Amino acid sequence: IACGACVGSCPLGAIEMTDSAAVITDKCSVCGACIESCPVEAIVNTDQNEKEEVSLDSYKGVMVFAEQRDGNIMNIALELLGEGKKLATDLGVELGAILIGDNISDKAKELFAYGADAVYLVEDPALKNYRTESYTAAFEKIIKTYKPEIILIGATNIGRDLGPRVAGRVHTGLTADCTKLDIDQETRLLLQTRPAFGGNVMATIQCPDFRPQMATVRPGVMQKAAPDANRTGKIVKVDYDQNTKVRTIVKEVVRESSKVVNLEEAEFIVAGGRGLCGSDGFELLQQLADELGGILGASRGAVDAGWISNTHQVGQTGKTVRPKIYIACGISGAIQHVAGMQNSDIIVAINKNANAPIFKVADYGIVGDLYQVVPAMIETIKELKAESTAE
Ligand code: FAD
Repeated sequence: IACGACVGSCPLGAIEMTDSAAVITDKCSVCGACIESCPVEAIVNTDQNEKEEVSLDSYKGVMVFAEQRDGNIMNIALELLGEGKKLATDLGVELGAILIGDNISDKAKELFAYGADAVYLVEDPALKNYRTESYTAAFEKIIKTYKPEIILIGATNIGRDLGPRVAGRVHTGLTADCTKLDIDQETRLLLQTRPAFGGNVMATIQCPDFRPQMATVRPGVMQKAAPDANRTGKIVKVDYDQNTKVRTIVKEVVRESSKVVNLEEAEFIVAGGRGLCGSDGFELLQQLADELGGILGASRGAVDAGWISNTHQVGQTGKTVRPKIYIACGISGAIQHVAGMQNSDIIVAINKNANAPIFKVADYGIVGDLYQVVPAMIETIKELKAESTAE
């Protein structure tokens, strides 16, 4: 009726008036605000029809993608089992692990020990190496057959490829890089919290209308539960559909020859920022890392300056780490950096500015020039080592 009531209701300015009707433009995010504002019910959401087809109650249980490489379960899978167990306990449901690969059934034991009640196992030579289409097909079959209400996937290279693809297949939402997961006790919905707007706000996202509720979590964010080798569970074997169309062939797996930067699993990290004032500074930090048996981390400031590769970057757009000791050298402590290292057991900060925000998260703060402090630390460690071997 061209009353124009919907125009003002749209937060995105996505509705334009013509002489005879309101027109919804491409800017629309399908938030539904206009539907409620319309006095004559002239606006409908066509997605709504699909919504009604999903019987939410038929979905039950929490499942975790047990990512494996070369038959070894990745740490992230064990961390997600720890978190998944809490969610499953809150909901009073079973915790399942999705294990896909070739000849990997012996790994189920490890998943039971870390909290899985059931392992959904898809084994086939076609699943030996990760390929998007074959793994998606196996995953999709498990979801459609066993209908879990929640799925957690590690935000690894594989998880970031697989998660959205699976979510698209089963027509549900996925919240990437969650830092906190919880259950709303009233609605039983998964509360998926993640940083938004450059880390300035924490957004809690829900998926009320579709199932499963899917989330990815970066390695190092959640904690593994203590393993119990006596725990057992059931193994549910799921056939791999031999007619799955897979358009890629893995001919050879070539390991990267350069040193693999495995920040997520490192116990000691020596990280450098713009305060290094040049790439040479990382040579000094490497000496300290070598003495500690650790590896180099970096702020985005140092990466953007071209002093070190982005595989070393820690933070919101880098890796999330949880070492025993994190030594931040010449890093100011921007919120986006802190987001990636605040869970370290002990944080040592070296900065010449006593007011640098990094000192707010540091357990030990050294106000000084890193080019004086770091050599002194290296020297001291060498002396301590010499003393202990002399004894
Ligand atoms: P600066 O902020 O320039 O700090 C340098 C510090 O070195 C200063 O505190 C200074 O006092 C100190 N200093 C200087 N000389 C010395 C010396 N000789 N001895 C001791 N101290 C010295 N950043 C990340 O790190 N990781 C991320 O993942 C990340 N993601 C981002 C995502 C978004 C969307 C945005 C907008 C930003 C992101 N950033 C990220 C960038 C972040 O906001 C900061 O710009 C960045 O972390 C700053 O790096 P820095 O601390 O090395 O540099």
